[in-house]
Amino acid sequence: MRFPLALTAKIARHIVKHKVKRTPKFAMVLQLEPLHTCNLTCTGCGRIREYSTSLKDMMPLEDCLASAAECDAPMVSICGGEPLIYPKIEELVDGILKQGRIVYICTNGMFMRKKMKDYLASIYTSALEPKLQTLLDQKLISDKDAETIRKGKSDGRPVIRPSKWQYWNVHIDGLEYTHDLIVEREGVFKECVEAIKMAKLLGYQVATNTTVYKETDVKEIEEMFEFFSSLEVDGHTISPGYDYDAAKKDMMKRLNKQPEDFFLTRKATREKFAKIEDWGKRFTIFGTPVYQEFLAGKRELTCTAWAIPTRNVRGWIAPCYLMTDGHYPTYQEMLAKVDWNKYGVVNGVARDSRCENCMVHCGYDPSGALGTNYQRGDNWKNFRYNFGAKPKPYVEGRNVKAFNGVSIGKGHLAEAKAAINTASCSTAPTAEREDLLKKIAATKKDS
Ligand code: SF4
Ligand code: SF4
Repeated sequence: MRFPLALTAKIARHIVKHKVKRTPKFAMVLQLEPLHTCNLTCTGCGRIREYSTSLKDMMPLEDCLASAAECDAPMVSICGGEPLIYPKIEELVDGILKQGRIVYICTNGMFMRKKMKDYLASIYTSALEPKLQTLLDQKLISDKDAETIRKGKSDGRPVIRPSKWQYWNVHIDGLEYTHDLIVEREGVFKECVEAIKMAKLLGYQVATNTTVYKETDVKEIEEMFEFFSSLEVDGHTISPGYDYDAAKKDMMKRLNKQPEDFFLTRKATREKFAKIEDWGKRFTIFGTPVYQEFLAGKRELTCTAWAIPTRNVRGWIAPCYLMTDGHYPTYQEMLAKVDWNKYGVVNGVARDSRCENCMVHCGYDPSGALGTNYQRGDNWKNFRYNFGAKPKPYVEGRNVKAFNGVSIGKGHLAEAKAAINTASCSTAPTAEREDLLKKIAATKKDS
C-alpha cells in the first residue's frame, strides 16, 4: 500500500462521515502555526516576512490543542516558522496524537537530530547499545551525544517518538547547492540528509516537502526524488509556488516587469508538472491522482481552501494560508462569515484576481479527495492510488550527486548574500526566490 492502512482508513471515514451528514464545508488538514520564529531566513519565505512583527508571539499550547479539536481535521500539519523551536513542541505533538489525529511536523531539519537524541535518552537501556553503535559508525551522533543518551532522561516531559501516526516532513527545495543557497546557509542540506538517515534508522516516518518555482530545474527535482527514495523516505509533498498579489503589482509598478517574466503562471505550472503522474508511479508522491491530473493540466478543479485551514497566533486565516483577508477567532465563525464564492478559479475563470495563477495543494489537493468537479472513475482512481503497491526505493538514487555544493568545497554563502542584496524586490517574496534561482542557473552554466 502507498499509505499506511490505518491512516487511509481514518481519512476515508472522516470524508464519509461528513458526506453522510451533508456537511457543506469541513476541515481535512489543519495547518497549525504555533509560532513564526525561525532559525533560518530562507529567500522568499512568506511566513517570516508577513508576520515579521509577531516573531516573538506564540500560541499557547492549550489554544493549539483546542484549535485541532474545534476544526476536527484528521490530520494536523505543524508548521511555522520552525515548529521545533516551539518550547512545548513535544507536548503539542503528544496532545494531538492523543486526540487521535495524524501529525506532520514540517521542519527545516536543523533540530531533528536533537529531538531524536532526546527520544533515545528517554528509552535508554543497555539493549540500545547496538543501535547507538550503528549511529556512531554512520557519524549520525557523536561520542559526546552517546554519553548524554546513556545518562537517560528523567524530566518527565514527553518526547517525539516514532509512530505510524506521525511524519517528519522535511523542507527540501533541491540538491545541496540549490537548497543551501535558497535557505541561505551552507550545511543545511547535509544536516537534513543526516537527520533523515537517523530518523529512518530509528523507525520514524519521513516525508520531504518541496515547492516548485518558475526557475526550478525539473530534472534536479527528479534527481532529488531519486536520491531521497534511495534513503527510503516514506513520501514526498510537492506543490507549485504561489505569487502574492502585492508582489506581482510591485514588480509591475517598480520594475516594469510583466508577471509572466517572474511568476509561475498556470500555464508554466502545467509545464513544470507535466511528469507528475510519472513521478507518482515511481515515487510515493502524496496527494490524490486527481490533483496530479489538475497540476498536469488535464482537468480543472475548484478551490476548497476551507478544507486546509490555517490557524496562527492571530486566529484562523481567511481565505487561505496564502492570502490573508482576515483572521477569525474560531474555524466555525470563519466558515460562516467568509463569502467563499469570492475566491478560487472556476472553469478556468478567477473569481479573485489574486487566485488567478494559484494551483497550490492547500487550495486544490482536497478538491481531488472531496469530489468537487467529480468525473466518473475518480473515486476508483483515488482508491487504486492509495491502496496500490508502494513504489520500491530507487536504489540507483544513491548515485545521484546530491552533495554538489559546500560538501565538495564549493561554498557559496557569499554568493547567496550578494544575490539577495542585489535582488531589488524585497517586498516580493516569491520574486526574490525566482531571482535567486535564476542566478543559480546562471552560475551552474558558468561553472
Ligand atoms: S525554514 Fe521555513 S519558516 Fe523558516 S525561513 Fe525557511 S521557509 Fe521560512
Ligand atoms: S485559489 Fe484558493 S488557495 Fe489559491 S489563493 Fe485563491 S483562495 Fe487561496
